[in-house]
Amino acid sequence: MAKTEFKSESKRLLDLMINSIYTHKEIFLREIISNASDAIDKLYYISLTDSNVGINKDEFKINIEVDKENRTITVSDNGIGMDKDDLDNNLGTIANSGSFKFKQENGKSEDVDIIGQFGVGFYSAFMVADKITVKTKKYGNDTAYQWESDGVDGYEITETNKDSVGTTIIIKVKEDTESEKYSEFLEKYKISALVSKYSDYIRYPITMEMEHRKLKEGADLENPEYDMVSEEETLNSMVPIWQRNKKDVTADEYNEFYKQKFLDFDDPARVFSNSVEGVVTYKSLLFVPSRVPFNYFTKEYKKGLQLYSSGVLIMDNCADLVPEQFAFIKGVVDSQDLSLNISREMLQHDRQLKTIANTLEKKIKNELLSWQKDDREGYEKFYKNFGKQLKYGLVADYGAHKESVKDLVLFYSSTEKKLVTLKEYVDRMKDDQNDIYFATGESVDAIDKLPQMEFFRDKGLEVLCCGEDIDEFAIKGLNDYSGKAFKNIVNEDIDEEKEENGSSETDDSVLKFIKDTLGMKVSEVVFSKKLKSHPVILTAKGEVSFEMEKYMAQAQPEAHIKAERVLEINSAHPAVSALIANMTADKDKAEKYAKLLYNQALIIAGLPVEDPSDYADMVCSLMV
Ligand code: ADP
Repeated sequence: MAKTEFKSESKRLLDLMINSIYTHKEIFLREIISNASDAIDKLYYISLTDSNVGINKDEFKINIEVDKENRTITVSDNGIGMDKDDLDNNLGTIANSGSFKFKQENGKSEDVDIIGQFGVGFYSAFMVADKITVKTKKYGNDTAYQWESDGVDGYEITETNKDSVGTTIIIKVKEDTESEKYSEFLEKYKISALVSKYSDYIRYPITMEMEHRKLKEGADLENPEYDMVSEEETLNSMVPIWQRNKKDVTADEYNEFYKQKFLDFDDPARVFSNSVEGVVTYKSLLFVPSRVPFNYFTKEYKKGLQLYSSGVLIMDNCADLVPEQFAFIKGVVDSQDLSLNISREMLQHDRQLKTIANTLEKKIKNELLSWQKDDREGYEKFYKNFGKQLKYGLVADYGAHKESVKDLVLFYSSTEKKLVTLKEYVDRMKDDQNDIYFATGESVDAIDKLPQMEFFRDKGLEVLCCGEDIDEFAIKGLNDYSGKAFKNIVNEDIDEEKEENGSSETDDSVLKFIKDTLGMKVSEVVFSKKLKSHPVILTAKGEVSFEMEKYMAQAQPEAHIKAERVLEINSAHPAVSALIANMTADKDKAEKYAKLLYNQALIIAGLPVEDPSDYADMVCSLMV
């Protein structure tokens, strides 16, 4: 039978792996064992409803054999097994593995570290093997198959004999070279140590024949003699990490578990471990990634937690367990109250599951709040990564989750010059201040330079600078905080400003003149109460703000959603006086001035100039 070639991407990854540094090689065993455990999970799951499986829960196991002479490590499981198609699809290509995609999208192919950090599943065995043979028989099939490969040219699948259902993987360990030693992996103590290090929590026994010294029968204790005996030993404790007492688990163990389970190469930023007893009883072990997953803001990203029922995996990614605003949370939930043979469709409507989801939402919120309190720096780093997601929670589901997010969101404060919570803002509010002031714009820097900010700066009033698209929607969704309304100083008139108003005596014929010149471009021209050193600003009247207009221009350009423009002018500004002087002296010039001022106002508002070349011509004509 002809060899089937590996896909080219697979070849490249294989190459990378085979050349990775030594300390990374040992993870191959963990990967093989974890596949075996998954395969057993699958068959066990079937056995719950299908009596033909004929295996009791306590008969499932993973066995390891080591043959020093023939340089092989053999890992056998009595899991679900694979048929010919499975072998082709699952072991024929590794291009689909998450880690490989990550590498491609990050374009750092020289960085081999990725492999040591979380491995690439089955193929990692080629780091130590020069040949791998897989013998497998799928549950429900009569034919067994053998898959064999040297990891370089391709693989071959043939029929073979195998009595029992399951998979046996024979790893032919490479010969030692000057620089690379592999023989250590043929030592049982090493295999046993690797199982303890990486696979201790695997829920099925991982067994191996171990040699012991045993006291000879009737031996003299003063001068003891021993026999060497072989006994099958279970190498793992089988207690899942989330079932262990929080204080007995080291940070390293949590980190290792997270990286392995959720394919991250960084330690998590924070670990939440909870044990809940009440209407429903469950344990949860949750993680906040320290970086934004590469596909996070794409459709490919699937939020959700792994769901276990008394230690048995029933769903790999249960989306219903985490609300949208916490979509970044990874982790596991294990509850004895969930029925094991519940179908996935039924699970969605399961009352227990809903209760768990509700308590989890509160738990996550409280954990994030304590993080905010006890490690602000760490929290702000987290917020840079996932703050957008939290803000999204303020608007999602018509604000159904805003209670769980309102104290978690941060905004940049104009006076504190750092990120602050809404509570911190409200606690600092002046006695006579009624509203929470915020300003929207392109970025915090751009907002700081807005003419509207001058008044607040002079008065020492704190303004929340909202530089993200979502901010305005988020605040709209929030509506109020602690009974205080939000006021966008860019668009709305502010009570305090009115008292400052000093321009009422000015002849308002200038307003009509500008309005006539600009026509439908603006809906109104008014004297400003906000401006000090700037001549003009544009404000939006009505429901649509400029930030929304900009957002909609991208999201739904065909809708042509435009904010209603109000041009505010500063009658005390010399530029405006010049315009007024020219209204009678040189009407043509005055009209140009009016258009110039309007365009400047557009620029300040971060909106495009309507006719850039006309604008440029106008500036030039006034210069000469
Ligand atoms: P991953 O485990 O991340 O999917 P692997 O390369 O480790 O990637 O494995 C690929 C697939 O091969 C597995 O998803 C599984 O379907 C199949 N597989 C591997 N080992 C076994 C096994 N011992 N029993 C049954 N199927 C297996």
